[in-house]
Amino acid sequence: MSLTLRFWGTRGSIPTPGSATVRYGGNTPCVEVRTASGALVILDAGTGMRPLGNCLVEQARGARITGDIFLSHAHWDHIQGLPFFTPIFRPGNHFRIWSAASEAEHVARAVREQMSPTVFPVTFDKLGATVEFCALAGGHANGDYSLDVHSVRHPGGALAYRMRTGNSRRPGLVYISDNELGDATGYHSPADWRSRLVAFASGAAILVHDAMYTREEYEQHRGWGHSHYHDVVQLALDADVSRLVLFHHNPERSDAEIDEHVAECRALVAAYDAPLEVLAAAEGLTLTT
Ligand SMILES: [Zn+2]
Ligand SMILES: [Zn+2]
Repeated sequence: MSLTLRFWGTRGSIPTPGSATVRYGGNTPCVEVRTASGALVILDAGTGMRPLGNCLVEQARGARITGDIFLSHAHWDHIQGLPFFTPIFRPGNHFRIWSAASEAEHVARAVREQMSPTVFPVTFDKLGATVEFCALAGGHANGDYSLDVHSVRHPGGALAYRMRTGNSRRPGLVYISDNELGDATGYHSPADWRSRLVAFASGAAILVHDAMYTREEYEQHRGWGHSHYHDVVQLALDADVSRLVLFHHNPERSDAEIDEHVAECRALVAAYDAPLEVLAAAEGLTLTT
């Protein structure tokens, strides 16, 4: 039994339409995950959620749509697609929006208030679907999948997710959208945070990770909560994952530059002679664990 992922939004921080971002995409983070039984899980609710919603409505042909939405955190780029997610306006549909227990109250408020009259014409209370806010105290299991959580280094806090289907020993998917791997102060992470993170991601079939910066850019943005791709490759090697997907692309990054960075990462991996595949997340890319 495996998980199928489809990327609907891959860009960090702000949508980036335009000819330079056509191949990797300009929508902010949103990943659809399907379990073997077809259960719908959505990782983050960035602007990629709009085309995902349209696709779900088309596939459903009027049938009820249910799903679990797991937010890594509530920064704009991870929630701004929700008001444009068509299924949320249809009576009969049912969604649960999950976030870290410690932040659940703030997250619910941020999600609701992005649909308050000052900033949006339709209020949250007018949604047709049933929407529940749920707190993730630890892991979560539902039908044929399980989900483990891990706190990562990002201003305001963020969660990493590890999702498995069927047998809990399967390698599964690790999703870490926003995380700073470099040395930076200001986080309440334990001294051994890196070895804990390596253990969390250990042996994953797919690791999706924040790769916002080049090494040079990172020096100008230390403490902003994102990683450079050299550090990300090192994490993937240390955690012995099979496939690394560079994610949360810098809004200033063109498709051609992402191609160059992928090539650079592959050269790094080749130098270690490691069986690690590296690719960059692109809208429409579908992968199976
Ligand atoms: Zn982000
Ligand atoms: Zn963020």
